[in-house]
Formats: sequence, C-alpha cells, structure tokens
Amino acid sequence: MAEKRKAKDLVIAIDGPAGAGKSTIAKLVAARLGLRYIDTGAMYRALTLKALRAGVDCADAGGLMELLAQSRFEFPVAKEPENPAVLLDGEDVSTLIRLPEVSQEVSRVAMVPEVRRELVHIQRELAAGGGIVMDGRDIGTVVLPEADIKVFLTASLEERARRRYLEMRQKGLPATLEEIKKQIATRDKLDREREVGPLQAAPDAICIDTTALSPEEVVDKIIQLCTEGREG
Ligand code: C5P
Repeated sequence: MAEKRKAKDLVIAIDGPAGAGKSTIAKLVAARLGLRYIDTGAMYRALTLKALRAGVDCADAGGLMELLAQSRFEFPVAKEPENPAVLLDGEDVSTLIRLPEVSQEVSRVAMVPEVRRELVHIQRELAAGGGIVMDGRDIGTVVLPEADIKVFLTASLEERARRRYLEMRQKGLPATLEEIKKQIATRDKLDREREVGPLQAAPDAICIDTTALSPEEVVDKIIQLCTEGREG
C-alpha cells in the first residue's frame, strides 16, 4: 500500500471460492465502515440470466457480448444493507440470479475472456471513486490490484456447501445439500483452472479460513487490518 487513505475512501478487495462467506463479510465490513458494496458475482450471474432468457449459449462469446452491450448493471444504495439489490436493465434480479439454473451455467459465462474484459472494465469504473468493498474471484489480482486491503477467504467444502444450502432454504429456493456440494466443487474447479482471471489469492492478500469462525470474528479481523496505523 503506497499511501494511507482515509477510512471512508478505502478500497477493499475480498476474493475466495463459493460459500467462503465473501458476500456476508463484505456487506458487514461495508456497513461498519460506511463503504459501498459491489458484488461482482452478481454481474456474471445477471448476464447468465439474460443469456438463458434469450436462448444464447453460455459459451457463445459473440452472443454474450451482444447481450452485454445492451446491459445496464446498477447497485442502488440498499435500504436494508444486509439485502442489497442488483438491477439488470432496471429490473430487480437479486433473487432470480440465485436460481440453480443460473448457478449451474455462470462459470461457463465467466470463462469467456471477452466477457471478463468488459465486466472488469465496468467494475473498475464502479470502484473509481474509492470507498468501496468489492467481492469476487479476481478482485485483488486483476480488477483492483492497487486495493488498500486484500482478503482471501476460504472454508472447507462441507462448510461452504452447508452455508449455501441454508442460504437457499432461507430464500425459499430449491436445493439439496448434495447437489449444492457437487455444484460448488464443479464451479470452483472451473473458476480455478480458467486461463483469464482465475480464482487465486493475490500474493499480498491476507488469507482467512472462515470454517470455524463466526462472521463477526472475520469482520473484526478485517476491520483491524483496515484501522492498523490509520487515522480516522
Ligand atoms: O460470487 P458468486 O458465487 O455469486 O459468483 C458466481 C460465479 O461468477 C463464480 O462461480 C465465478 O464463475 C464468476 N465470478 C467470476 N469473477 C468474479 C466474480 C464471480 O468469475 N469476480
């Protein structure tokens, strides 16, 4: 970190595999520090939803880029910070993008280099003013390599599947634990092994294994990293 920024201008990158706790932690950190939260996975998911609706194959770069050229992503400041909305072309797709058919296909969309290039560009623009917590797979490595704080969250596959299962049940979405475990293992493999922007910890990221930690414990660790040696 070249120079110390004020807390309200901080740029925090949180990466990790599915179910490691990224969005829960990122939302809490953003709320505690008064920063905006951007879920980049929601952008890949929203494009996947749009492709499924339009009957475009999730590996068809040309078709996906055409859809992307007509897409608008918005992250309005949430009335309930624990439930931030994602708007695709003005439509609230926050729940639809969590449907199993979207989760099943999203990593194929995310493998397309042209799609990544464009979404990374949009994500950098969203982060340009600072004061942001962004989560994803390649935030510390590709999107915001100059972030003030980089965190890489991990947890065992069993624990990650259990968390995702509870989350889906809570939202009234269909799911079984076994299916989710299989799906996130497949998604992680695709995310780790792709050539562009793979899931990977940045060399300067702080790795936190959240398997046995409560969200509050993880958030406290990150806030401590943010405040160490920083003034107001
Ligand atoms: O974070 P979430 O699990 O919702 O992300 C869905 C998918 O979007 C990931 O499995 C990954 O394939 C893709 N993704 C990505 N890069 C990001 C964020 C998400 O490739 N920065």
